[in-house]
Amino acid sequence: METIPFNKPFIVGRELEYIEDAVRRGHIAGDGYYTRLCQEWMQAEYQVPRVFLTTSCTSALEMSALLCGIQPGDEIILPSFTYVSTASAFTQFGARLQFVDIREDTLNLDESLVEEAITDQTRAIVPAHYGGVSAEMDAILAVAGRHKLHVIEDAAQGVHASWKGKSLGSLGDLGTFSFHETKNYISGEGGALLLNREEWIERAETIRDKGTNRAEFFRGETDFYTWIAQGSSYLPSELVAAFLYAQLENADRITAKRVYLHQRYMDALAPLEGQGNLRRPVIPEACGHNGHLFYILLDSLQTRTRLVEFLRAQGIQTVFHYIPLHSSPMGRKVSANPDLYLPVTDHVSKCLLRLPTWYEMDDDQQQRVIDGIFKYFTS
Ligand SMILES: *Cc1c(COP(=O)(O)O)cnc(C)c1O
Repeated sequence: METIPFNKPFIVGRELEYIEDAVRRGHIAGDGYYTRLCQEWMQAEYQVPRVFLTTSCTSALEMSALLCGIQPGDEIILPSFTYVSTASAFTQFGARLQFVDIREDTLNLDESLVEEAITDQTRAIVPAHYGGVSAEMDAILAVAGRHKLHVIEDAAQGVHASWKGKSLGSLGDLGTFSFHETKNYISGEGGALLLNREEWIERAETIRDKGTNRAEFFRGETDFYTWIAQGSSYLPSELVAAFLYAQLENADRITAKRVYLHQRYMDALAPLEGQGNLRRPVIPEACGHNGHLFYILLDSLQTRTRLVEFLRAQGIQTVFHYIPLHSSPMGRKVSANPDLYLPVTDHVSKCLLRLPTWYEMDDDQQQRVIDGIFKYFTS
């Protein structure tokens, strides 16, 4: 029996052809032909003044911390139910973390709890768009505006998704994307930083290129190529950009397939929700999602463990998601409040299960997953 993996990397178009072309062009370090194509494509598609390709979403988040001038003692407000990098990119520079609970419907940062988490040390709010479904950006931007805080969207899962018609990653001061092979559009490892603030473009160029003024030097704006600020090696090679460009060219097709799979799970599993066996994702009206992931919420950790085993025995791989950051060994050390209790986060972390979703998955493979879940609840 064929195993159905949770995720499977894929090629959708001219990836290998473009890599070969990049080699022929004789420039395979960063910032060449394909890097520019990717950046210009995203600037036009997501409507931001500037996009920089980076080596990962993690590095785009670290660049964000440097751009916001994060210093030891500064505080960041973020969900605990998110990936490590949403937090680590800021603690890297000495930030302390104010973890806030998530909403029960979208599993995103609960915007109604943000204001009470703000202190004199707070510098930024970092919402993540779980599964490509937007956080409540109007409320988050409003509270940030009232308290003069930066907003950095962790849109690792939110590429090509929207909030009230505007692209995720383009709503805050900064937005970050991931092109890791587990995301919607892939280049192995990879990411991007979206800048909504033109006055930060030159600083971002420097931070991304080891703290040097190389970009200005090549434009003839300075006589010396030298070290001028903090920064690191955040620019990817042309080989990565060439692969990515072939994926971006097919972004609509990739999204359409993922949204199709998502909707098919939604429809097929509706009766099980009706019988009280599980809960499906909630997608608010304002959210144009990208089908990044499909999860079900079970009634307990025990049910989840049994279902995972039951499906594994049929060759179906399912995976749960985050261990809450506020209760992780490192999270506790860098939390502004180490004894936090976040009831929704803790519950969801125990009861959530993600189902196989990948670009080349066919109807029969998906039907096997659906049948497996039905069999569990009826046997
Ligand atoms: C995947 C992911 C990241 C990390 O992305 P990389 O490109 O692997 O650095 C960060 N935040 C969230 C929410 C993610 O899902």
